[in-house]
Amino acid sequence: MSTSVQRPKKLQNQKLWKPEQIIEILDLEYSRPPQQISNSPIFELILTVLSQHTSDHNSGEAMHHLLRVFPNWQSVLDSPVQVLEEAIRPGGLAPTKSKRIHQILTDIQQMQPDFNLDFLADQPLEEARTWLTSLPGVGPKTAACVLLFALGRPTLPVDTHVERVSKRLGLVPLKMNADTAHTLLEKSVKPKDVYAYHMDLIQHGRRTCNARKPKCDQCVLVKKCPKSGVPITA
Ligand code: SF4
Repeated sequence: MSTSVQRPKKLQNQKLWKPEQIIEILDLEYSRPPQQISNSPIFELILTVLSQHTSDHNSGEAMHHLLRVFPNWQSVLDSPVQVLEEAIRPGGLAPTKSKRIHQILTDIQQMQPDFNLDFLADQPLEEARTWLTSLPGVGPKTAACVLLFALGRPTLPVDTHVERVSKRLGLVPLKMNADTAHTLLEKSVKPKDVYAYHMDLIQHGRRTCNARKPKCDQCVLVKKCPKSGVPITA
């Protein structure tokens, strides 16, 4: 169900990379870790909240502490929110994240008292996405992370790297907001390629197409990159 992405007018006559070409080239450039499906959507959901605005290392530490302090999700709700805040402090923004996690677990408990979200694997994709984004503070990126990493469903998380690289490559308009870019990018890639596309674009954003100083002179995609929004000095 691959459909073409609507491109900015000035790029409509310019040849751009197709998702499958980007994957082929970046797979050769970086070593992409194989997809590992965790089969634990609630774990993935809480970990994704913890990962906001911090490194993978810090969010991993915070999750590790959380699991050590609380034997199960119900015990998080049975304790004062300050205990959760203290447990997740290594992940940063603990006051905000602890309240958000508390709210999310409260809502989930009302709908799924055993906190089991396995039903998301069998729901139509859009229903699963809508269910997740109805939770407090859960946006399209977090929902996509849960569905992709926990359940292997073809949803594309668009983080800051994916958004920046896809805009520079002209795959989505420069001024498009992240949520709309998410919809367009996800539609442009075959479901079987979603994980590869996500991982490859992230690697490229981290290692070559950096935010401040993209290494265009070393970039394997430079041949068909319009460098949209890239500073003239880069
Ligand atoms: S050519 Fe430059 S702007 Fe384009 S993808 Fe490569 S590093 Fe990014």
